[in-house]
Amino acid sequence: MKCSLVTGGSRGIGRAICIKMAQMGYYVLVNYRTNVEEADRTLALIRQEGGEGELIPFDVSNKEDIQLSLGDWIKKNEGKYIEVLINNAGIKDDVLMMWMKDEQWENVIRTSLDGFFYVTRLVLEGMLLKKYGRIINIVSLSGLKGLPGQTNYSAAKAGVIGATKALAQEVGRRGITVNAVAPGFIKTDMIEGLDEAAMKKMIPVNRFGLPEEVAHAVGFLASKEAAYITAEVLSINGGLYS
Ligand code: NAP
Repeated sequence: MKCSLVTGGSRGIGRAICIKMAQMGYYVLVNYRTNVEEADRTLALIRQEGGEGELIPFDVSNKEDIQLSLGDWIKKNEGKYIEVLINNAGIKDDVLMMWMKDEQWENVIRTSLDGFFYVTRLVLEGMLLKKYGRIINIVSLSGLKGLPGQTNYSAAKAGVIGATKALAQEVGRRGITVNAVAPGFIKTDMIEGLDEAAMKKMIPVNRFGLPEEVAHAVGFLASKEAAYITAEVLSINGGLYS
């Protein structure tokens, strides 16, 4: 059975990606950290699409938790193979660097950058054996341009962009593509409180984006036909920055 693992699939962009994966015929592994109600809702939406999947909670910022939960799932499910991995889980904790606490730096880096490493390394083995895989990392405009108040988040996402390009070169011969998608402002809990009416003036498309618009691009990169696109960073930001 071919599976797709989406980290942070309980809400926002991750949920839209889970639904897209179900529409593409994948058995969807919905990862989340704490929000079981929202994760259940994602699973219900997957089933509404005629798809199937299961919840697989673990904290991507904790390598022991990843090993216990995901490592165990891989061992126990030899017949299932994670063909598509979407590293989507992420947090932000904005403050000017002058005032940033150690834990604000560490938590954001651990979630995006360490999470990418420990999850991907586990899943990669199966892809290498099958000589096929799609890895898509959700990064950010912040990791390309840098945004004030986000030295932690910009560094984490820029780190994942570098790792995306390096890993793509390591595994290209084995039928595995590795790409990143860099959203701008997308309507999810993460940007709650931002004033769209004021900020949309800066955005050529004149609005914030939707999670489904990010999921559409992820679905494209996850398709078999996208085999010659790798080490790429695709911006989805309404023309805000390129
Ligand atoms: P969101 O609505 O806040 O959802 C975050 C998701 O990540 C939730 O499913 C959450 O699980 C999960 N998560 C957070 N920390 C986790 C951890 N340590 N382990 C496992 N899961 C964890 O965020 P979003 O806006 O959809 O963002 C998704 C990705 O897109 C992130 O990487 C973010 O940096 C990136 N992004 C977002 C925007 C934007 O404008 N929204 C722009 C650029 C990039 P729980 O439900 O259990 O908390």
